[in-house]
Amino acid sequence: MNKLKVGILGATGMVGQRFVSLLERHPWFETAVVAASPKSAGKTYAEAVKGRWVMETKIPENVKKLIVKEVEGDISRITKEVDLVFSALDMDKEKIREIEEAYASKDVPVVSNNSAHRWTEDVPMIIPEINPGHIKLIDVQRKNRGWKKGLIAVKPNCSIQSYVPMIKALEKYESKKVEVTTAQAISGAGKTFETWPEMIDNVIPFISGEEEKSEKEPMKILGKIKGSKLVLAEMPKISATCLRVAAADGHIASVSIELGKDISEKEFIDAIRNYHNPIAELNLPSAPKQFIKYFDEEDRPQTKLDRNFENGMGITVGRLRKDAILGWKFVSLSHNTIRGAAGGAILTAELLKAKGYI
Ligand code: NAP
Repeated sequence: MNKLKVGILGATGMVGQRFVSLLERHPWFETAVVAASPKSAGKTYAEAVKGRWVMETKIPENVKKLIVKEVEGDISRITKEVDLVFSALDMDKEKIREIEEAYASKDVPVVSNNSAHRWTEDVPMIIPEINPGHIKLIDVQRKNRGWKKGLIAVKPNCSIQSYVPMIKALEKYESKKVEVTTAQAISGAGKTFETWPEMIDNVIPFISGEEEKSEKEPMKILGKIKGSKLVLAEMPKISATCLRVAAADGHIASVSIELGKDISEKEFIDAIRNYHNPIAELNLPSAPKQFIKYFDEEDRPQTKLDRNFENGMGITVGRLRKDAILGWKFVSLSHNTIRGAAGGAILTAELLKAKGYI
């Protein structure tokens, strides 16, 4: 099979680098174009990321020598050279909306990590194992905008992958209220301990915009398509506190949850362990074999030990116990730049390809 040619917008950043490394041996996709700001454009990729390549693996040989293009200035050239793009840009949201629409209007599917289009009505926000059916919104989007091959699909904020899978797994027990406190890694801010030494031995109790996203975005993911519209879920009500902590990668969450039905501990754990993964039979290349793992050990999941479960694409959970206020509480974890960013976007693109949208 000829691989599809992929462009990475924002290829030099933290999430962009993760795309470059995850796509190195991808069976369907190959990195053909790397693009970033005018500051990086014109350099080889190796020069552009010199001193700031932070992946555990080396820069892939085929990407090292690619000349970095300009995300905005080179749109016409880039759209002729690629079959799809991943957007990992960090710039003004209005500008990002314009850029992503410009690529899609030139027949190029865009799968984005950015929040710019998450609340655009005809743009689906996807966690493939939870709401794969929402990709049908793309039919509406193409009709609205007159696009034939272009599309925009987005993935949600990195924090919510750690707890929304459990809310979905418990759907039949009707979650009413969720109180979540996340402890989020510094790579979520595009940083390392070298570039952000103030974070060593520190916790910062504020991440701009994060609590609002952590409370609102699950309602779109858990919503239902009715006719040509996506109707947001109304339950559960979510209250989030997001802390930045001294971890390199991995967002871990402490979650209290009130269910609408009385269930036993076994029923709770069974619901998580037996979650029906709706895309399992597609055997997508980046899909984890096991989407959610429940630990019986009292001291798991741990950020450092468990963030790479299933190559960073699996969700880990444990410490289920009674909560005096909401009924139940547990701790859960996901890798923020893999499942929560580049890996989640690649899996979404695989789903779109498997379903004929790319
Ligand atoms: P980052 O490390 O700051 O990288 C930003 C990228 O955007 C760089 O490639 C940068 O290029 C490019 N860029 C900035 N200004 C530009 C401009 N004017 N024109 C073209 N390109 C420009 O950010 P990040 O952490 O990778 O995050 C990228 C996006 O993913 C953000 O929207 C973020 O919210 C989202 N996200 C991040 C995570 C995470 O865990 N880090 C998780 C989920 C979602 P230069 O190098 O040339 O400046």
